[in-house]
Amino acid sequence: MREIGNTTETLGSVRHDWRRDDVRALFALPLPELIFRAQTVHRLHFDPREVQISTLLSIKTGGCPEDCAYCPQSAHYEAGVTASKLMRTDAVLAQARAAQAAGATRFCMGAAWRSPKDRELDAVCVMIKGVKALGLESCATLGMLTAGQASRLKTAGLDYYNHNLDTSPEFYGEIITTRTYQDRLDTLGHVRDAGINICCGGIVGMGETLDDRVGMITTLATLPVHPESVPINLLVQVAGTPLATGPRLEPLDLVRTIAVARIVMPASMVRLSAGRQEMSDETQALCFLAGANSIFSGEKLLTTANPAHERDKRLFDRLGMVPMSG
Ligand code: SF4
Repeated sequence: MREIGNTTETLGSVRHDWRRDDVRALFALPLPELIFRAQTVHRLHFDPREVQISTLLSIKTGGCPEDCAYCPQSAHYEAGVTASKLMRTDAVLAQARAAQAAGATRFCMGAAWRSPKDRELDAVCVMIKGVKALGLESCATLGMLTAGQASRLKTAGLDYYNHNLDTSPEFYGEIITTRTYQDRLDTLGHVRDAGINICCGGIVGMGETLDDRVGMITTLATLPVHPESVPINLLVQVAGTPLATGPRLEPLDLVRTIAVARIVMPASMVRLSAGRQEMSDETQALCFLAGANSIFSGEKLLTTANPAHERDKRLFDRLGMVPMSG
């Protein structure tokens, strides 16, 4: 047992009673102590050399009615993204086969919708079945879902649904006004009730305070069941969006966020997500040391650039790390 703030914590146990003070105390630890604890927890649940690789394909790009301030796909902003229709199933499955050949074990399909219409969901269900038939894990991010829609996705074989909380409840209104934090929690509840694994995290570097990062991580860590995947995204500042300018996050603040996520959600995959293209290999290495054990691979992440497979392979070779097998 170790003392953290006013509480005692058993490193590595899965708990749902985290308080903001506990999480704030973790963020305030000296970095060597924080990384040591994160590493200790990581090794209790995972092989620290292994990194799970997912590939994300935008199956329906742009023209989204939501106003997420970081997103070039929002129809509210002029960010140079051309809206497209939902891709054909054969084209999606060709991309899934290519991702599998490049080492991906999970194939994620993202659509820029507020929520899917029934006929759109029909098409996505066919895609999910096709991805599963290849032997890949399937993941989708389609916006808000009703309970019935979540259950249809489960029946189609969906393994994971991504729906991020983005930030703290307090800062959320500065970033999105077209749906509420509670809407997001409701969708997460429907997905969980349907028996689909949850991929849920947030974005740092949007001008939030340290307390907002504390609030976001505490919200995630106090969900009734921890998300199986926790993506931690670093804001990519895209011209034309409201968050195109502004101070950039200190890389060590990203590292701390990942380490705290690892400690409070010890059995979850923590994914180093958007923003890797602009990160040095050294920053990424520190994120892996802090307990990140999942990445998105592929040259595009929805509409923004992502490191090419070759760069990731060189990085893994330099670090002695290996892709997690499926
Ligand atoms: S993040 Fe998703 S919901 Fe928000 S504007 Fe972009 S595509 Fe739409």
